[in-house]
Amino acid sequence: TYLGALDIGGTKLAATVADASGPLARVAAPTARSGSERAVGEQAIELLEQACAVAHIDPGRIGKVGVSSCGPFIKDESGIVLVTPNLCGGLVGGSDLPNDWTRIPLEAVLRERFADVVIRNDCVAALIGERSFGALQGEDDCVYVTWSTGIGFGLCVNGHVLLGKHGNAGHAGHMLLDPSSDAQCGCGNFGDVEALTSGRNIGRGSGQNAATIFTAARQGEGAERALVQQAAQWFGRALYNLAATLDTRAFAIGGSVWLHHGDWLKPLAQKEIESRLPAVTSGVTIKTAALGSFVADIGALCLVLPPEW
Ligand code: ADP
Repeated sequence: TYLGALDIGGTKLAATVADASGPLARVAAPTARSGSERAVGEQAIELLEQACAVAHIDPGRIGKVGVSSCGPFIKDESGIVLVTPNLCGGLVGGSDLPNDWTRIPLEAVLRERFADVVIRNDCVAALIGERSFGALQGEDDCVYVTWSTGIGFGLCVNGHVLLGKHGNAGHAGHMLLDPSSDAQCGCGNFGDVEALTSGRNIGRGSGQNAATIFTAARQGEGAERALVQQAAQWFGRALYNLAATLDTRAFAIGGSVWLHHGDWLKPLAQKEIESRLPAVTSGVTIKTAALGSFVADIGALCLVLPPEW
């Protein structure tokens, strides 16, 4: 028997087929943005079938499918439905999406083809991947964080991965840090973690993208450096809020912003955390996630991995 893994993101969708020896083939494409609301689910099935073709496997032999998906989700009688603004529109300031989707019936469409499907928020899947094979092995009280286009978290307390009522636990990028700020998140909030730090938002006021801001910040003392230092401080505050709330000590951080600049961001975030109550913060360790750009594929596989593999 074989396993399928799907990584459904706002920009790309990847499908992997695996057996007990590990991943066998992976196919990716830009995520569907038009057609019917079923388009994303149907594309996921098609890419999984393509991955099977590459590996010379009959798709009928896929036993289980694990899915790491961007959220947030809602649940109805058909299962998990995506309502993510990156795919359904609804971004503040308008969206350029060529669709009028309000909901993506992901679980229902996948289940028409595959009987056994497990869907988790992308940061929850990444947390499970990092606990199984990455930087959070052996940690029962830990947090995975992505610092990428957006900011997201996967939370584990006493060995229990937190899901919440709809599977949206960990959407703490929308925790408010400074509501008086004029930095606005795609969700509408002013001054939430994502508005103040995310790759999408960090250069917004200046019209520069994150990579340009960071390059300039590393080179000089100008406005870009102040912006990045401020973002690292806000990010440290977000980690502090979670350490204080959950009594967690181990953080693993991934996402392109951190993977490129963690060496510089880490001491700044750490300093912010350590300036607070030692009972909450002593022993907090910030690690870099170990699975890099494969965290979503591996996380998705971990959702359906048989214990004997
Ligand atoms: P995703 O957000 O789709 O999960 P990534 O983790 O790769 O994907 O994050 C991509 C984001 O990271 C980009 O939107 C950009 O804001 C930021 N980014 C990419 N490269 C760099 C870089 N060299 N320096 C700083 N930020 C970067």
